[in-house]
Amino acid sequence: MLDWRLYPELDESGKVKTVLGISRDITQNIESENALKINEHRFNIASAGGNIGVWDWYPQTGELVWSDEMYRVFGFSPGACEPSYELFINMVHPDDKQRTEQAVDLALNQQQPYDLDLRIVKKDGNEIFANARGEVQLDSNNKPLRMLGTFQNITERKRAEEALRINEDRLEKAMSVTNDGVYDWDVSTNVVYFSPRYYTMSGYLPDEFPGTFDEWAQRVHPEDFKRVQPAVTAFLTDEIPKYDEEFRFRCKDGSWMWIRARIEVVSRGKDGAPLRMIGTHTDITESKLAQREREKLIAKLGAQNEELERFAYTVSHDLKSPLVTIKGYIGMLTVDIVKEDQEAIDEDLSYISSAADTMAGLLNDVLELSRVGRQANSLQEIPLDQLANEVLKLVHGQIQEKNVQVQVLPKLPIIYGDRLRLLEVLQNLIDNAIKYMGDQPNPKVEIGASNRDGHTVYFVKDNGIGIASNYRETIFGLFDQLDPRIEGSGIGLALVKRIIEVHQGRIWVESEGLGHGSTFYFTLAPKPHSNNS
Ligand code: ADP
Repeated sequence: MLDWRLYPELDESGKVKTVLGISRDITQNIESENALKINEHRFNIASAGGNIGVWDWYPQTGELVWSDEMYRVFGFSPGACEPSYELFINMVHPDDKQRTEQAVDLALNQQQPYDLDLRIVKKDGNEIFANARGEVQLDSNNKPLRMLGTFQNITERKRAEEALRINEDRLEKAMSVTNDGVYDWDVSTNVVYFSPRYYTMSGYLPDEFPGTFDEWAQRVHPEDFKRVQPAVTAFLTDEIPKYDEEFRFRCKDGSWMWIRARIEVVSRGKDGAPLRMIGTHTDITESKLAQREREKLIAKLGAQNEELERFAYTVSHDLKSPLVTIKGYIGMLTVDIVKEDQEAIDEDLSYISSAADTMAGLLNDVLELSRVGRQANSLQEIPLDQLANEVLKLVHGQIQEKNVQVQVLPKLPIIYGDRLRLLEVLQNLIDNAIKYMGDQPNPKVEIGASNRDGHTVYFVKDNGIGIASNYRETIFGLFDQLDPRIEGSGIGLALVKRIIEVHQGRIWVESEGLGHGSTFYFTLAPKPHSNNS
């Protein structure tokens, strides 16, 4: 005969981790054990587990002892009924009964200890979850003499587990339907769970890079990281109540996508510091690009508006002076008509006519500028030397007048674009080159093309008055004239620049400074490749 003592050891959650059994061979002196000792032994067993029920069963005799907690687990007050295996098994939930009986059978017949979770329908009809453990003890004939075990109400833990499972299930479903990447960051270990979408939205396979804070940090654009990292730290230390940042994130293919990241703290330590945080990554690339485009457009519109304002101001100002002339001469004309002074009348009329011409010219220029880009003529290949020679015919008078030596360099390339507009470009540049010669005794103009960094650059070069470096940008503005005494409207270069831009080119001027001549350079987009050619 053995004497068994059982000492359950609990884990942190209060669940039985191990049951320590001490056995002694008491066959010799079993007869001398008195009832008191047996009761004391049973009491020990019963009280050892605290909120864990303990039972002690002799299958051969059917004797079963329950600790007080056992009664409570089943909904009885301690000692209120006679415990028996039948009583127990009948209170097991019908769906768990077979499993339980099998476990007990295996324990009895094959000495397999069991540890199973089952449902009990209590006396009052309420259902609870319990953890049942049992172990068998054999007699000298290897027959099951005694079975000892524990029984614990684990309903709360089961419900918490179930709630957790439902929450996790919900989170998983939410993560699979959302377009956002989700991350779950354990601040103490810096281990981060990245959802599959978190990876795939930037071109990675799920779990392709390890889940750590550093892996995230490495992929944030270095420029943005300077701003985002302090925000993370400030949020962690509660300096800011909210973390909502936008930054560029490197995709697997090396491209950058725009991310909006948000975090919520889901658990804090005793000192209030965040322990675990859950956040999202939203792809805002498209809206960011659209925003950029919007900003560019607004800036462009702003510049155009400014130009229009200047335009309106200058047009009204420039139109005023011929108008004043016209008005003045009309007054004089009235007087001269009364006087019948034909010579004076003719002079008045000629001044009025030339002022009207000036106005007409000005209005034409303005109209011309507004047409560029709106009125598209067909694009064609044009030999540059042909175009240059055509312009030289048009400005023949000025060339003769100033005795300018004009040279069209040999082997000029073929350009591609709107013929009429490009003619205007050359005419304006050559016209200016002649006009701003100053008192150069040997006036020279050169029209040519050269190669810069693999691109063809066209130029009109003169040895005239030159342009001071601080005016090299402004001269392309509308109505910008450096010397208002020289005849001109200040619209020519603005028109030229607009035409070049419509041809996807660029124009700029280089000059060694005042008195050292100027060279106007421009580029043009090459002829697009045709698929048929
Ligand atoms: P404008 O009708 O006054 O010639 P443009 O727009 O053609 O108007 O030129 C603007 C200003 O740029 C001119 O008034 C002049 O001061 C300067 N400029 C243009 N071309 C030359 C040049 N080849 N050499 C020196 N100055 C020039």
